[in-house]
Amino acid sequence: MSIVSNLPKKLLNKLGSDFFELAQRSQDIFWIRSADFQTHLYVSSAYENIFKRNCQQLYRSPADWINAVITEDRDRLRQRYVQWQAEAINPAAATIEYRVMDAKGGVHWISDSCFAIYDGRKRIAYAGVAKDFTGQKSRVREFDDAGYFFRYFVDKIQGVFWVKDNKGKKQIFISPSYEKVWGLSCESLYADPSSWLKSVVPEDLEDGKLETRFYDISEQLPNQRHEFSFRIRQPNGEIRWVKDTHFPVMEKGELIGFCGIAQDVTKEIEREKELREAKENAEKANSSKSDFLAMMSHELRTPLNAVLGMTQILRASSLTEEQSDQIDVIAQSGHHLLGLLNDLLDFAKLEVGKLSFSRDSIDIQQLAAKLIADMQSMAKVKGLALKYIFTENVPSMILGDAKRIRQILVNLISNAIKFTEKGYVQLTINCLQKNHQEATLCFTVEDTGIGIEKSKLTTIFNRFQQVDSVYQRKHDGVGLGLAIVKELVEKMSGNIAVTSEIGVGSQFSCIMPFQLQAAETEVTCWASSENRVITRETRNNVTELRPVPVTVTAVAEKEEKTNFNMNVLVVEDNLINQKISKSMLEQIGCQVDIACCGQDAIEKMKKHYDMVFMDIGLPDMDGFEAVKHIRERENPDHHVPIVAMTAHVFEHDRERCFNVGMNEVLAKPIMQEELVRVLKRWAA
Ligand code: ADP
Repeated sequence: MSIVSNLPKKLLNKLGSDFFELAQRSQDIFWIRSADFQTHLYVSSAYENIFKRNCQQLYRSPADWINAVITEDRDRLRQRYVQWQAEAINPAAATIEYRVMDAKGGVHWISDSCFAIYDGRKRIAYAGVAKDFTGQKSRVREFDDAGYFFRYFVDKIQGVFWVKDNKGKKQIFISPSYEKVWGLSCESLYADPSSWLKSVVPEDLEDGKLETRFYDISEQLPNQRHEFSFRIRQPNGEIRWVKDTHFPVMEKGELIGFCGIAQDVTKEIEREKELREAKENAEKANSSKSDFLAMMSHELRTPLNAVLGMTQILRASSLTEEQSDQIDVIAQSGHHLLGLLNDLLDFAKLEVGKLSFSRDSIDIQQLAAKLIADMQSMAKVKGLALKYIFTENVPSMILGDAKRIRQILVNLISNAIKFTEKGYVQLTINCLQKNHQEATLCFTVEDTGIGIEKSKLTTIFNRFQQVDSVYQRKHDGVGLGLAIVKELVEKMSGNIAVTSEIGVGSQFSCIMPFQLQAAETEVTCWASSENRVITRETRNNVTELRPVPVTVTAVAEKEEKTNFNMNVLVVEDNLINQKISKSMLEQIGCQVDIACCGQDAIEKMKKHYDMVFMDIGLPDMDGFEAVKHIRERENPDHHVPIVAMTAHVFEHDRERCFNVGMNEVLAKPIMQEELVRVLKRWAA
């Protein structure tokens, strides 16, 4: 073993080869020095690991060891060397701790112990073990540091840190911030540990239960966090919000105390309050916006009622073809305005989350056929064919909101007509899936119009998005229609999708699930005018025309003529509206009296009427009140049907009408066919 070759024979024999075997394997440094301490006779390989220096180098230059010791510790170690040599027998203070810096700059804590080796009475060498205990040392230090840091932290934090005994009676610790938050001295709390409670405002004390809840362990689980918020009144009268979070402290399953932190959260609470108020204000502003829109809608509806009403009355008189065309233009413009108005109103309702859905039983095929009939004139003006087809498996009766379904289809079809110059617009209803309870229907509106650029396909469903720029408008509209359609479809648990090709056409499809009405009733269908229907499919950008098995519904444009021989009272203050209602009702055979205000209506009701049409906004009392009076005075054997005719079209307006005893609500502008429908119902 070359490393030990410089050891005296005697020493080698004394230590034996096992010693060196052990020394070389140890993580500690085994060392042997000459009796004068000047040279290293042996050092184990751990030296190279710890000092990061070469053993051979140490043999050549023994001062390497002491030179590696950091300056502050070096003198102490030198003195110890002297002391060890001076000791008569074995060195007494055999162990010393010092720090060395290894060749790479790392600092190690070394615990070095030494004993003398004798040959008889003669001291021939010193041997020792140098242990690197840096890891241990730093843990001890960290622990000390943590205690220091903790105390420092507790002094500096704004929260009040507290520790109590396991009964909550003794104050073991309170951090200085208590004085700031409570405005009371820490000493006062140590003297009277429950004195903090005296500052809590009485309403937050819960009949004095707060203290019990703090320290009652019976219901508490170990490590369970408790949190209470309460207000305290400082001696200067100021109120602060405090949030206390605390834990029971357990040791070996036993409760030894409580510790917690009480934070002054006044600022946060105030901020929350501000945010809440800001939100409420925003909601108020939103609600006034919708109130404004409701008012505008009412104001616009009234003159529209006159425009559309008059065109309907005029149509019934004898007109030249030219005059008839002119009336059509007025009617179309009126309907267009009405559509816009409805969109704006829906938009306002969607904004404030006020849109509600009804559950009507709907004959979906009839609804679609009627709608197509209503929209024929719009298509005719542009020379377009407007078609409607449905596959045979489409159920006849579904449950849903008829008005909303109509609205979706009207929006899509009017867009299709608007953006198509030649060809056709077609509504297809497909049943994708059906069982006894429900059916999934797909409504597709396709056109042979201008198409939509691919890049615009995703944005057209956003509010106020149009493909045309504002200044280069070829088409009118405000870009609300599709946004509303999408929201309506989604609110009915459905999806909407669009495919389109520039110059070929567009296809909007809405897939919606519906519950089925228990017994499907007979459906009245219009006679078929076509035997084969062509549907167009765009696959891989190739459009192919192919026949599909469908039921074709050609739409009858003629309404059957009806004659009602009924005495009706119209309560209406607006002169134009009086005229319109009167003419419309007379055209279908009614005898009409007019009451111009609530009082007048109550007077006139002394006479017998078969039906009353009641406006809501009247000069003396509103329609609700007038109806109440009428109902109070009426003969129980003769309950007269009262129909509200109103431009107030919000859901809560309708509800109020029913609540005061009205039987139906007609929204202005009044359409003749609506009147016919209502009269038919109540004539019986
Ligand atoms: P607008 O009131 O402008 O019609 P919409 O939300 O209904 O608002 O439509 C948004 C835009 O989508 C339209 O301005 C138009 O550019 C495009 N668009 C909608 N439907 C069609 C269609 N059938 N063909 C071509 N473009 C359409």
